[in-house]
Amino acid sequence: MKEVTTIYVLLLILLPIQQIYPTEINVISDSQFLTEEDTLVSPAKTFELGFFRPSDTETTIYVGIWYKKIFVKTVVWVANRDRPLISAEAGVLRIVNPGNLVIMNNVTNDLMWSSNTTSSGNVAAKLLDTGNLVLMDQQKEMMIWQSFDYPTDTLLPGMSFGRNFLTKKEWHLSSWKNSQDPAVGEFTYSIDTLSYPQNELRQGDVVKYRAGPWNGIRFSGASEFKQNPIFTYSMVINETEVVYSYNLVNSSVLSRLTLNYSGQIERTVWVDNGKKWQSILSLPKETCDTYNICGAYGSCTLVSFQTCMCLDDSKFMPKNPKGWETADWSGGCVRKTPLDCENGSDGFVRYSDVKLPDTQNSWFNLSMTLKECEAKCRKNCTCMAYANTDIRGEGSGCLLWFNELNDIRVYFDGKGGQDIFIRMASSDLGNFTQTVSTNKGGTNIKTILLAVILPVLLIGFSSTWFFCVWRKKRHAKATGEGESLQVQESNSEAMELPLFSFSAVAKATASFSSDNKLGEGGFGPVYKGILEGGEIAVKRLSITSSQGLHEFKNEVICISKLQHRNLVKLLGCSIEGDEKLLIYEYMPNKSLDSFIFDKVRSTLLDWTKRFNIIAGIARGLLYLHQDSRLRIIHRDLKASNILLDHDMNPKISDFGLARSFGGNETGANTERVVGTYSYMSPEYALDGIFSTKSDVFSFGVLVLEIVSGKRNRGFIHPEHDNNLIGHAWRMHNEGRSMELVDTNIEKPSNPSEVLRSIEVGLLCVQQNPEDRPNMSSVVQLLGNEVALPKPKQPAFFTQRNIPGADFSSILYTTRSTNEFTVTEIVAR
Ligand code: AMP
Repeated sequence: MKEVTTIYVLLLILLPIQQIYPTEINVISDSQFLTEEDTLVSPAKTFELGFFRPSDTETTIYVGIWYKKIFVKTVVWVANRDRPLISAEAGVLRIVNPGNLVIMNNVTNDLMWSSNTTSSGNVAAKLLDTGNLVLMDQQKEMMIWQSFDYPTDTLLPGMSFGRNFLTKKEWHLSSWKNSQDPAVGEFTYSIDTLSYPQNELRQGDVVKYRAGPWNGIRFSGASEFKQNPIFTYSMVINETEVVYSYNLVNSSVLSRLTLNYSGQIERTVWVDNGKKWQSILSLPKETCDTYNICGAYGSCTLVSFQTCMCLDDSKFMPKNPKGWETADWSGGCVRKTPLDCENGSDGFVRYSDVKLPDTQNSWFNLSMTLKECEAKCRKNCTCMAYANTDIRGEGSGCLLWFNELNDIRVYFDGKGGQDIFIRMASSDLGNFTQTVSTNKGGTNIKTILLAVILPVLLIGFSSTWFFCVWRKKRHAKATGEGESLQVQESNSEAMELPLFSFSAVAKATASFSSDNKLGEGGFGPVYKGILEGGEIAVKRLSITSSQGLHEFKNEVICISKLQHRNLVKLLGCSIEGDEKLLIYEYMPNKSLDSFIFDKVRSTLLDWTKRFNIIAGIARGLLYLHQDSRLRIIHRDLKASNILLDHDMNPKISDFGLARSFGGNETGANTERVVGTYSYMSPEYALDGIFSTKSDVFSFGVLVLEIVSGKRNRGFIHPEHDNNLIGHAWRMHNEGRSMELVDTNIEKPSNPSEVLRSIEVGLLCVQQNPEDRPNMSSVVQLLGNEVALPKPKQPAFFTQRNIPGADFSSILYTTRSTNEFTVTEIVAR
């Protein structure tokens, strides 16, 4: 070692006289080393390795790898993260015999870091374009060490994440201490391989977040990790290794997965024209991601008064009800009916859209069928549940859980959950739930139910389906407590909606005082109130309402079954005599139209907020169309039906005109055209054909309104007589789309996002419904830097090109047409 240092000191003496090495080198070898002035660069100049300071003010110096191509210094790997050099000290990265890559402190002669390798041959270090620093034995042409085996806080495409049981190598991420200190911080993100593999984010020893077990497509419950147009993923699970890795479809994209010092897992993509890293995944993202927040058999929800619910109210109850009243959910839930395994009478009930429980106490077999899996679980009285390990195709493999089921979550938006079969006492095995024997049998029952029986029941319901059950009649009328409205869906399912007495709601709203009035919609006036300590909004069905009892029922039926962060939550209702009230969560920022179309308030919605609103509405609509238990077409999507919460998150409201469908139906034909003129698609307005694509059309109009701050209805332009849609189309064709942006806001920091939103808006308002994207594509197109299809000419963009002049003239030529919901137009 001394010898090496002596040579280096000699070289340092020579340096001022003669520049021996170039600033950028491409190999470190026995005769070539790296000083603080140099960098080692990958062949295509994608990555660079060198000495760096975490900030200009820091005196600490590290050796690390960063992207060479981008100007924002983004360090992806650090060698001496726990042992930095200090300012005055000169460092050198070099190879010392026998084949060891080291960082030396030349002042103190200390060894600051080492690859701990040995080799008899000639060794050279190179930086690859993947960001991997490799140490090669030149004679054997063999890699003896690579930085990819020692990840710090960043997982790059191609890196391994997991464990090799033979070599005992383990790859995990560990956070920096803080933004200036790359030393190992509090957080780690790793694959727990003790039982069936699952991902865990830990702070010290405490699990903070868990992405459920790998199910062939994604980590259960973490839909963000599944295949998408930007990445491909691979997960190898066998006796020798459990390894996850991802790769880029287009290798010129720069992307990374990081664990930051505050414990956030983030996947980012470099956006060249925005000159910034754009986050496309961030976990944990919400309260419900907190590990086991609701305890055993509990499930977290974002859209209720209470954070936790039992997995299934009819079969489980809070273990510690007092705790639940004070928001202490940790006790979780227990069964209402004890199991009776010894008598062999227990069965299994299928739960869908579930994030699979913690696999700490589990067993698995990758080749068993679901039937064999059930038999295996049935035989063991401590086995509480089973599921397929791989949900692709027919499903395969077997995963069993023993004892309590922890960290479960039911997804109401169909995101990332899957089927699990939970052991139940025989009395809990309902008619329509499965006492599983085959995989597909249950699906069929469910499908038949949804596709055939349910629609029939729904139709029949129009007169009889909806009823209130007063359990404590007179007493409850006085107090308004403890009641629930049962919305009977089928013999097997009953939804409970809290029922309040009229007097309780009147008290909550100061007797519906005008001071409390928030606004007025087609249904009637809306009032603010305080009920049970929480803020509420109350819709009072007025006798003169254009939307009647039918819409009232419809709203209750639809929305009481839906739960999504971008849908307004119905908390309860009240029906007494002629008084019909709907009680919602209160949205402090009221409706979107009160912002975007108002000169002063629109300045409060900068581009970032507008884009979040667009993306949120898209996600809410996707849930309605695709992911919710009922396929729902809203039919009246417009700015005044988008409410904004405290943080300006959008929530779709007003389901009075919505229609639900079972099975694979996506639309229908009606003679009763309802909705709002300026948001209606041509096929619906003219022929009464409505489908998810007519909602997509309304969404497109809404996007253009949000971007421009102008209403489609009544849009006036000095140069032409196009409406807003036509104007946007014109600007797009002339390459002037940015001129569409609301002039009341500052120039958007992210023009590509603006252009993307406008193009998505134009794709949605295309004449032909088949040309319009579905909402799942819309969500994808908005969120990713992928190439967009070219929009075709939109519908209804001038008064002249409207087919069916008589009807359309009502639609667009009459500028005075108001924007109220039309509850009945007879289509031709
Ligand atoms: P709607 O009948 O849904 O069209 O509502 C009429 C108006 O009342 C809306 O435009 C909002 O300004 C207000 N409003 C409706 N629901 C709520 C709510 N949940 N929270 C706050 N304001 C609301």
